[in-house]
Amino acid sequence: MTSPATYRLRLPGPTDVPERVLAALARPVLNHRGPEFRTVLARADELLRPVLGTTHRVLFFATSGTGMMEAALANVCAPGDRILVVVHGQFGERFVAIGRTLGLEVETAEATWGEVVPAATIDEKLRGGTYKAIVAVQNESSTGVVADIEALGSLARRHSCLLIVDAVSALGGIEMRQDAWGADIVVSASQKALMCPPGVGIASFSRRAEAAFRTEGPGLPFYFGFRRALDSAAKGETAFTAPVNALVALCEALEMIKAEGLTAVLARHRRLSDALRAGGVALGLQAFGNHAARSPTVVVFGVPDDLEGGEIVRRLYEHHGTVIAGARNKLSGRVIRFGVMGHVTEGTILTDIVHLAAALRALGRPVDPGEAISAAAASLVS
Ligand SMILES: *Cc1c(COP(=O)(O)O)cnc(C)c1O
Repeated sequence: MTSPATYRLRLPGPTDVPERVLAALARPVLNHRGPEFRTVLARADELLRPVLGTTHRVLFFATSGTGMMEAALANVCAPGDRILVVVHGQFGERFVAIGRTLGLEVETAEATWGEVVPAATIDEKLRGGTYKAIVAVQNESSTGVVADIEALGSLARRHSCLLIVDAVSALGGIEMRQDAWGADIVVSASQKALMCPPGVGIASFSRRAEAAFRTEGPGLPFYFGFRRALDSAAKGETAFTAPVNALVALCEALEMIKAEGLTAVLARHRRLSDALRAGGVALGLQAFGNHAARSPTVVVFGVPDDLEGGEIVRRLYEHHGTVIAGARNKLSGRVIRFGVMGHVTEGTILTDIVHLAAALRALGRPVDPGEAISAAAASLVS
């Protein structure tokens, strides 16, 4: 085990949490129905709206991202309803599994992993039947590609169905204009670009989605019921005990985003992820996936055929304290993944490249660390 002092959490979530947010977590627990917590809840809502690009109320739950994916489907789809899931990676597949578990009739529009699904493919599917919703992942963390939510929004309008979006690994690092793009339900979670510990689930929705919230029937969630949550939110509360300290911390993180400026925050994610990609490519790795759709928050590298991705991951952790991800799906061994989310600076990226160069050299690759740093620096300074 590396010492905590050298531990660098560089996953595509959960991500490193700034000191200021950690300190906020340690404040005294508040009465979840008292005036102090009402202020926190109202502020979290107010600060998240611009990040989501919505003017509507935001709902908070105690759960992970997957909990919110499930809640989104269960609140507008009853067993037997048909949905179209856009699948080009592991999280799209997860939506398929959740939909089937809920008894929905699940169809898919698919692309090879690393690509995005063309709007025309989705349009064609939608012409073939009646769908309750299009379900998509904005930032597919398993492949590092970003879907065009605006295009999906117009398709949803044209075909009179809802658009449900997983923005878990996107929100706070990739632009979301929920109202303008017509994303009917957007779900996210605290532990990625919002730079908080895991534990808070987030949902926002359009008026159309609100009108479609289920209030009865089989499979309707109780704790995760959006109608009930919304009624409580209108009174300045959560329906059940909120994760009070986690929301205090979320507020703190959102204050940091506001202070830096959302536009600057989003630009920083793009700039740093491009630099990390440039460095990794200079080390002989492959920038995985469609370049035009490359993610600002998850950098995925394909590893050379004679290397095992897991060995790089292990070496980075054991010798450098740098914790990155491999893959737990059909790309297992073939890719490694870094998060560029939240509390990340130029220094973070340059250190990643130094550690990656050292790990690759130790694994017998003839790498030139100076060239990699130079490529990253050139990208940062350009
Ligand atoms: C991390 C992530 C999730 C949620 O995962 P949890 O472990 O349930 O928080 C969902 N979708 C995407 C795209 C993610 O990256």
